[in-house]
Amino acid sequence: MDERGETRPQEGARQGPEDYDLLVVGSANADLVIGVERRPAAGETVLGSDLAVHPGGKGANQAVAAARLGARTALLARVGDDAHGRLLLDSQRAAGVDTGGVLVGGAPTGVALITVDPSGDNSIVVSPGANGWLTPGDIRGAGELLARARVVSLQLEIPLDTVAEVARTLPSGTRLVLNPSPPAPLPADVLAACDPLVVNEHEARYVLGEASDRPEDWARDLLALGPRSVVVTLGADGALVAEAGGCVRVPSPKVDAVDTTGAGDAFTAALAWRLGLGESLAEAAGFAVRVGAAAVTGRGAQESFPGVGDPLPAVE
Ligand code: ATP
Repeated sequence: MDERGETRPQEGARQGPEDYDLLVVGSANADLVIGVERRPAAGETVLGSDLAVHPGGKGANQAVAAARLGARTALLARVGDDAHGRLLLDSQRAAGVDTGGVLVGGAPTGVALITVDPSGDNSIVVSPGANGWLTPGDIRGAGELLARARVVSLQLEIPLDTVAEVARTLPSGTRLVLNPSPPAPLPADVLAACDPLVVNEHEARYVLGEASDRPEDWARDLLALGPRSVVVTLGADGALVAEAGGCVRVPSPKVDAVDTTGAGDAFTAALAWRLGLGESLAEAAGFAVRVGAAAVTGRGAQESFPGVGDPLPAVE
């Protein structure tokens, strides 16, 4: 039992020579946020709040979320040789992420320009920058890093060719977790390597095209596309996990949500880590919904992720 009263897999249960519980291959962005009374229309200029700069990007978020939970985590990403790149490297290292695999240069660090109005609605422009220069060649050059990870987590904020290269060259026995966000068409062999494919409602509907309104149907139909397992996240309603043996609902703790930014990244990182420790999909999702719920009780993305020793909300 750990300090949260949970049963954790024994250290002695670990097998194999892996140095990392989790390797995240993905994006790193600087989020530049300005609060405005009203988001500007075309051709209009409005005054806003002081600029806030936060480390973000789905890859960087997942790596920080896992490391803060205590996972031995590495990040494979690309940032620019600039102040935003240094901010991202510093925030990864502060969380305990091994940044030896982060490549520097080629283009400016990816940036998300975000304006938020008082109701919380936002407008976002993303410049992928260096994320777009993380190439299949970079993945081939990182073979040793890939071989040292128990689980690899991917999202789609880097080029699809690069994602496919990871899926195709993954050492046998390394588990692949993929969140297709932002959604894009996935090659059949990439889908087949996912264990699990992790989607929210929007992503499930994109991957499926026509879909019913029943999450159980999405899980079943997604599984039929080839992944070894599927997880559908359902916000306050928790998650659904599906494998060949069937589909199980995993309820989320009830919390007062303040800001859901990054909840999906926290969920996926927690899930991937616990799968690598040998938990079943339902057990790992049972932990991940608690981490996702904790993340929505704080503002921002990385700032809201729970750390080792922080109490996690429990399902009643
Ligand atoms: P985001 O894009 O906001 O990061 P997402 O759409 O990818 O998130 P969600 O399904 O909204 O993913 O949330 C992921 C997980 O976080 C959920 O499965 C759940 O465990 C937790 N969660 C999200 N919102 C809430 C909420 N309001 N109350 C409790 N738990 C929540």
